[in-house]
Amino acid sequence: MTANLIDGKKIAKEIELELQSKVSQMATPPTLSVVQVGDDPASTSYIRAKANAAERIGINLTHHHLSSKTSKKELENLVNKLNKTEDGIIVQLPLPYGFESVLDLIEPENDVDGFHPINLGKIVQETSGMKPCTPAGIIELLSRTGNNPSGKNVVVVGRSTIVGKPISLLLLQKGIDATVTVCHSRTSDIQKFCKEADILIVAVGYPNTVTKEMVKPGAVVIDVGVNRTDEGLVGDTSFDVRDVAGALTPVPGGVGPMTVVMLMSNVVEAASKK
Ligand code: NAP
Repeated sequence: MTANLIDGKKIAKEIELELQSKVSQMATPPTLSVVQVGDDPASTSYIRAKANAAERIGINLTHHHLSSKTSKKELENLVNKLNKTEDGIIVQLPLPYGFESVLDLIEPENDVDGFHPINLGKIVQETSGMKPCTPAGIIELLSRTGNNPSGKNVVVVGRSTIVGKPISLLLLQKGIDATVTVCHSRTSDIQKFCKEADILIVAVGYPNTVTKEMVKPGAVVIDVGVNRTDEGLVGDTSFDVRDVAGALTPVPGGVGPMTVVMLMSNVVEAASKK
């Protein structure tokens, strides 16, 4: 079997066109402020991708690029100020040590990354709130490729606050109805769990964590990993997973473009609620 590659770029483009159309009917364009502290090169390239997407959709994005010497107080003041004027605010990670609590100052309705404790809590309660972009993008990918998780065994490898935990909780929600197993670095016999997955979601951060032997023939594999190696960007699954999986998200071009477009979707939603 050779897995069908799930074209995240194409699906993200479809959603982008839907957002463009919504924005064209708004009286004023949605506004998004992206705050960066320091010069992390990966952050700079992620912000560039967000700025390009925002421009195509018609969102007014402002990049606040602060020096690495910025104090926590200055960052807090900026976030408090932006809360009063913007539809969406992102404080780009990574932040200097001890600064992460600033994220909680973003008003939940402006928190387009979906990282605020109130928005994460709303996933548990199954009430409407801003959903974190990568998990929301995975749900959208599954839905738009006809891979309905209802009643399926879904195994999530990774339990981070931005990917593993929220995707597990979204999949559990009524209406999505997956049976979810979450694995992590302390799981014993991880292969046994992975092998039972109809849908396997891998968000670990190390190449080759999931190999061909760990995948059930025909399973849908969502590879969230982004690892910079000498061979370029690779995911968390090994290349030979293509031989057994029924469908697989490539890296790059799978989950990554979905994360960016779901962020834009959150901005448009935030603006339409104001
Ligand atoms: P993270 O915060 O470092 O969490 C990694 C998780 O993987 C942890 O729960 C860890 O377990 C688990 N883990 C580590 N080694 C493992 C192993 N050998 N077997 C099983 N579980 C293991 O990472 P993250 O933020 O979730 O990101 C994961 C990957 O996704 C990274 O490559 C990141 O760059 C990528 N990512 C991509 C996008 C996108 O848009 N494409 C968005 C976000 C993240 P413990 O909890 O036990 O330590």
